[in-house]
Amino acid sequence: MKIDRPVRTRFAPSPTGDLHVGSAHTTLFNWLFTRHHGGTVVLRIEDTDQKRLVQHSLGGIPDALAWLGIDWDEGPEVGGPFGPYFQSERTALYQAHAQQLVEQGHAYYCFCTPERLEEVRRERSARGLPTGYDRHCRNLTPEEVAANFAAGLQPTVRLKVPDEGQVTVDDLIRGPITVDVRTLEDAILLKSDGYPTYHLANVVDDHLMEITHILRGEEWIPTAPLHVLLYRAFGWEMPAIAHLMLLLGPDRKKLSKRHGSTSLAQFRENGILPEALVNYLAIIGWSWDDKQEIFSLPELIEKFDLDRVKPSSAIFDHQKLEWMNGYYINHILSLDELTERALPWLAGAGLVDEAAARPGTPGRQYVEDVLALEKERIKRLSEIPEMTAYFFADDLDYSYDVLVSKKQKLTPELAETGLARLREAIAAGDVADEAGTEARLTALAEELGLKRGQLFMLARAAVTGRTVSPGLFETVRVLGRERCLRRLDAALAWLREHAAEYQGAAM
Ligand code: GLU
Repeated sequence: MKIDRPVRTRFAPSPTGDLHVGSAHTTLFNWLFTRHHGGTVVLRIEDTDQKRLVQHSLGGIPDALAWLGIDWDEGPEVGGPFGPYFQSERTALYQAHAQQLVEQGHAYYCFCTPERLEEVRRERSARGLPTGYDRHCRNLTPEEVAANFAAGLQPTVRLKVPDEGQVTVDDLIRGPITVDVRTLEDAILLKSDGYPTYHLANVVDDHLMEITHILRGEEWIPTAPLHVLLYRAFGWEMPAIAHLMLLLGPDRKKLSKRHGSTSLAQFRENGILPEALVNYLAIIGWSWDDKQEIFSLPELIEKFDLDRVKPSSAIFDHQKLEWMNGYYINHILSLDELTERALPWLAGAGLVDEAAARPGTPGRQYVEDVLALEKERIKRLSEIPEMTAYFFADDLDYSYDVLVSKKQKLTPELAETGLARLREAIAAGDVADEAGTEARLTALAEELGLKRGQLFMLARAAVTGRTVSPGLFETVRVLGRERCLRRLDAALAWLREHAAEYQGAAM
């Protein structure tokens, strides 16, 4: 996209506890677009909603953005020449601008009470008319206005929408969106408590902060014509504007909790990697060549532009994200990086002492070896403790089914002999030599008259407590000889201890 002036964009979140994935998507597109064009990102907190009373709070926004790797150049925490960046600190500015519009005849005081407005709404709705404001105060005389003020009434300020004509929003992604002004309400700009509405604060700030490009969610399309009118009323040039697609669930309904996590904090808690989430969000509604799906952040910055952003709503598919997360775990992160990410999870589950797994220690090497073996199967960091617990905790949960699985057609007696002899075979060589272990176990199976699979399954069950694990000889190598021997002993002891329970249960 050809751009002839330095790009300035903004993230304009209302304060929220957690960043919603839809806002993160919009934020990411703003950020990529701006970084691509070497521009400036402004963070502005739209905290003028008195009802929500979370003014002057950044909520979870900085944390969530830092986690994603998204930064801003101006705004809370970093400052900048266009502050303050909290709208709650800018009310005097909005009041002055509302006043200016009134004086110039583009806006007017409205003294209607909430009760009257409700009455009008009900009556118009009963008559099948649009329920907007009936413009009752639009033509008050200066004397009437003065009298109302003198009586202590607190007015709102409303935009005087022209009586007729059309207004066009030139959307960079969607093309022109034209509406008849008669469909627009004389929207409130300033509330009776002196606080601005979204329309006024947003337009005034985008202008004063010299925003050049507004990229925002599709849900704001209905407000855009009003904003065009406001820019016109002020005599300001409107920034370029684009409305990004809404994220939908796979059932094409608005993405909600029903579909899975929606806040960034939840994705994080569920073991999603920020780079995988960024990559996935970037390809929702944008594509490079309809083929490539995996992009590093620098590559995204290099390639991302609005020309390839699609206007239609886009599906957020948790399964696809999970696939991508697994891809990052398996192919993109180095083993060292994966280990760094995995350690807090392993420590949190009480499986590893982080201090004992500092870089360069045998403890660290062990975690790396375990992850190297398991990473192909890991889709989320949160699965790591469960999937790898048997490498770290010796108290395996043996059961009769696992050790003497019916499928393997082992008798309890054969299982006992097998375990005792496996112990000897493992003790007899260096388990780092996988082929050597395999050869010894193969010979042992022959000697005992067992199929390889029968003996190998028994060995796997004893050293892992599971029937499914990575390759047996690799697993034995990583576990190491001592641990394997301890476990073979434990499995044998378990079988003997539970002999009474499985007497007669075999075959
Ligand atoms: N404060 C609005 C929001 O919470 C900003 C919308 C816009 O970008 O204009 O999404």
